[in-house]
Amino acid sequence: MRALAVIDGTASDAPQQARALASFLRAGEHSAGERSRAVRGGVVHSAAVHSAAVHRGRVQAETLEAETLVFAGLAADREEAATLAPTSAVRLVRVPAWRRDLQVGYLAEIHAAGGPDLFLFGPGRVGVELAGRLSRRTGGSVVSGVLDVDLQSDHLTARKAVYSGYLRARFALTGAPLCVSLDAAWIDATAASGRGELDRPRIFSEVVLGAAEAAAEVVPPVVSDVEMLAAASASDLVNADVLVVAGRGAGNRAGIERAAAAAQRMGAAFGVTRPVAMNGWAPMDRIVGVSGVRTAARACIVIGASGAPAFYWGIERAQLIVAVNLDDRAPIVSQADVAIIGDGVSVIEELARLAEQRRPG
Ligand SMILES: Cc1cc2nc3c(=O)[nH]c(=O)nc-3n(C[C@H](O)[C@H](O)[C@H](O)COP(=O)(O)OP(=O)(O)OC[C@H]3O[C@@H](n4cnc5c(N)ncnc54)[C@H](O)[C@@H]3O)c2cc1C
Repeated sequence: MRALAVIDGTASDAPQQARALASFLRAGEHSAGERSRAVRGGVVHSAAVHSAAVHRGRVQAETLEAETLVFAGLAADREEAATLAPTSAVRLVRVPAWRRDLQVGYLAEIHAAGGPDLFLFGPGRVGVELAGRLSRRTGGSVVSGVLDVDLQSDHLTARKAVYSGYLRARFALTGAPLCVSLDAAWIDATAASGRGELDRPRIFSEVVLGAAEAAAEVVPPVVSDVEMLAAASASDLVNADVLVVAGRGAGNRAGIERAAAAAQRMGAAFGVTRPVAMNGWAPMDRIVGVSGVRTAARACIVIGASGAPAFYWGIERAQLIVAVNLDDRAPIVSQADVAIIGDGVSVIEELARLAEQRRPG
């Protein structure tokens, strides 16, 4: 597999990017050497495997042929910029600072010209942004913050931390190019720079992007329109008299909107479970549970939610819990004071209708 390690030398964390990529490539070389002795000579030069790198993550690779692209500032010293590279072969691209658009555009051109299978980025916000934007631009696939990878000739599986580090998940990437950014655990603090004991870097290409614009001080507008929005607040959920919470059982965004409208007709506050917000069916500030708010409502009506512990923590202080669920074995049914077995959205709409009927006037 051909890899291009990309370092944004214009960013303040360039040394950390370089060290992480160096650790990764050393681990990859070690793995390939162990399994097939197939690392192609002269591309990745580093004799020793850092034991620290092996503790941080695993790289399984049949073959890994890598070179480095360093984005350097327009006035940066070329030799100094190149020493960031963890490989001998270096492409140097001069670019004004903060021009991620130019960086991504250039990487997309490399891909279009038959570039590498794998674009590899360092940890942190730079790597996450470049990997995500490049995959979007090229139609490739992306995973950020990887701990371990298994590189095959046509696909990659990667392990990364998810749910705030509570779980490790494995992802399979197949769409080319593969765009991967590393977890910060790959930063090898024992290496002085990305190069370790490498020979002098060989800059085999050097291009300059955006110099004319920079000279003319033409700064393309990053933000063209600004609208001030009131800061979101979840205090209505915390202090609600009656709170309706809808879960994934509402089915889709339309179901959530129907439930929210019914809650409003009842004069109740409206919250959701985390998957509902993660699906983009409701704003994140509506989440009830350990990732959101904990309510002490007088009555909490939960529709289409299973009652997972991370959610239940958010409602357990409510004085009365009513659950509406199709499954009479769902945990929420035994957690609730009152359970209704039925369709969540239909039941809440019926409750709203009854509440409107009873309202004086
Ligand atoms: C670190 C961490 C933090 C988390 N924090 C939160 C958090 O703050 N809040 C949170 O909610 N989750 C949180 N979660 C996720 C949590 O573990 C559960 O995955 C989540 O609460 C499940 O959401 P749900 O009940 O909407 O979906 P599901 O578990 O899929 O349950 C859907 C329920 O709807 C029922 N149903 C299906 N169709 C209908 C219908 N037509 N009518 C009525 N019922 C129906 C099903 O029987 C089922 O019981 C967290 C997880 C982790 C790992």
